[in-house]
Amino acid sequence: MAVDPLIELRDVNKHFGTLHVLQDINLTVGRGEVVVVIGPSGSGKSTLCRAINRLETIESGTILIDGQPLPAEGKELARLRAEVGMVFQSFNLFAHKTVLANVSLAQMKVRGRKRDEADKRSRELLERVGLADQAPKYPAQLSGGQQQRVAIARALAMNPKALLFDEPTSALDPEMINEVLEVMQQLASEGMTMVVVTHEMGFARSAANSVVFMADGRIIENRTPEEFFTAPESARAQDFLSKIL
Ligand code: ADP
Ligand code: MG
Repeated sequence: MAVDPLIELRDVNKHFGTLHVLQDINLTVGRGEVVVVIGPSGSGKSTLCRAINRLETIESGTILIDGQPLPAEGKELARLRAEVGMVFQSFNLFAHKTVLANVSLAQMKVRGRKRDEADKRSRELLERVGLADQAPKYPAQLSGGQQQRVAIARALAMNPKALLFDEPTSALDPEMINEVLEVMQQLASEGMTMVVVTHEMGFARSAANSVVFMADGRIIENRTPEEFFTAPESARAQDFLSKIL
């Protein structure tokens, strides 16, 4: 199905001490595809995302981004991180910087853009996530949903090839979840390559090309949302779905 792979994991393994947190992970994310990763707490979903962005090292196997292996460190690694943006559950904005500065900072540091150029791009992206008028405010003056949209704008500002989302709506009050999912849905329809860890099954059904179900550090199922939600094959997935749907 994935004719043009952008993210590839081959036989990836990782332990935390005696815990085998990623076990023989094989996963291909095609350019323009949305892969939703679901599974019980502790199954390794965050570690998988962090490994793709090299916030975690792996012990064996290969991770390729656009055909290139992950660099170990230094400038090359910073560049890679810019190409694969990450959005976390806990927004991670700089509290003492304005919204505009939050979106511009890494553009200047990593992409080497001048402040004017970075700010121009930041304003375009804030507009795109519906926050044009929030640029001069500080994160604490924004709602959680607005802060998460700033974090998405910040990731987009680096012109990433792909975005990783690790439970981007889990810390939000229910009424703010949709405004974030709508931005993500829009990105998906524009062809952004995305790996999304989420419990939002509506998003998975409508936006995902494939659903990856993880349990105990393994990928148990990797199928289209139609197949997965109508007829999960494994007992683990059936049990998981019966609890959340
Ligand atoms: P998920 O995101 O699916 O809830 P995680 O990838 O966060 O799962 O964690 C998988 C397992 O690895 C859990 O048992 C967790 O406690 C453990 N773990 C995660 N990070 C660390 C760490 N830095 N050191 C030790 N154990 C960790
Ligand atoms: Mg997690």
